[in-house]
Amino acid sequence: MRYIEVSCETSETGIELLTAALDAAGISDTEVSDPRDVEEIMDKKESYEWDYIEESVVHKMEEAPRVSSYFPEGEEGRKQADTMKEVLQRVADDVKAGMYGPDVDLGSMKITEQIRDDADWKDKWKAYFKPFHVSEHLVVCPSWENYEPQEGEKIITIDPGMAFGTGTHETTSMCLALLEKYLQEGTKVLDAGTGSGILSIAAALLGAGEVLGVDVDLDAVRVAQENISVNHCEKTARAEYGDLTKGVDYEADLIVGNLMAELICMLAEGIAAHLHENGVFIASGILTEKEDMVEKAVTEAGLSLVEKQEKGEWSAMVFQKES
Ligand code: SAH
Repeated sequence: MRYIEVSCETSETGIELLTAALDAAGISDTEVSDPRDVEEIMDKKESYEWDYIEESVVHKMEEAPRVSSYFPEGEEGRKQADTMKEVLQRVADDVKAGMYGPDVDLGSMKITEQIRDDADWKDKWKAYFKPFHVSEHLVVCPSWENYEPQEGEKIITIDPGMAFGTGTHETTSMCLALLEKYLQEGTKVLDAGTGSGILSIAAALLGAGEVLGVDVDLDAVRVAQENISVNHCEKTARAEYGDLTKGVDYEADLIVGNLMAELICMLAEGIAAHLHENGVFIASGILTEKEDMVEKAVTEAGLSLVEKQEKGEWSAMVFQKES
């Protein structure tokens, strides 16, 4: 569907004045982009509410605040778009005339109009997701691409939908390479936080005897199960709703968790309880600065560190349960 986007660059004071005036004119569905929101999120880093922030979001801090709205392309939408532009212009004129007091600064008040197509937003990323080698034998292939496997290659076909896990992220690609290194034929695998199901599928293709992928996001569970079927792994692998290892009645020879450092620490006790003797735990999604914290929690739970890998700011760690 196509939309008319009307957007206005303003100041922090302008956000309130403009949204109030638009609201009064019946345009209440406005989108506000305020760099102060990003600042607020940045301030929360130490409270562990998030671990990673996209660079594009950080750049937003350098941009001016903006008020935008979208109207369906067509006669009615055209009218509303024109009304929005008139309201914005009227507020700008009123401010200039001093109607809001002497010191009100609305910023540049640059008004733009563009046609947007939501198909562009939904599928744009697909153009950049191409088949790629993620480890010696594993190739990840988007479900909409064709790839002719070479000898010895195993293909993971993925449509992540809204779930995390295309394999392109450092945290996932390290897990895939470590699975290839540590997984032994016929073993039982638990994939804690399966997302798109990519690690469960890889485990099945690498010869696991049984794989259980759990996730707290029901959409991810559905996507993972679909991807498991597309890869013909349903005899070995399945995806289910599950909160880490809580209430999960399953003992494994290998557990893989591409989560966040804090979640891995919370998971440590559960891992130890769900892992067979000499079993392996592959932990990923750890910012390098949080390695020590994870090592401490997991070793205290009775596992020992075997290997550590780093890619960019991310770290993956392999532990083994002592016998
Ligand atoms: N395994 C995939 C996805 C990792 S993203 C990959 O490596 O690419 C982490 C996933 O963990 C998300 O899908 C998220 O929904 C899930 N998750 C977060 N907290 C969880 C919890 N407490 N129990 C189970 N899954 C969880």
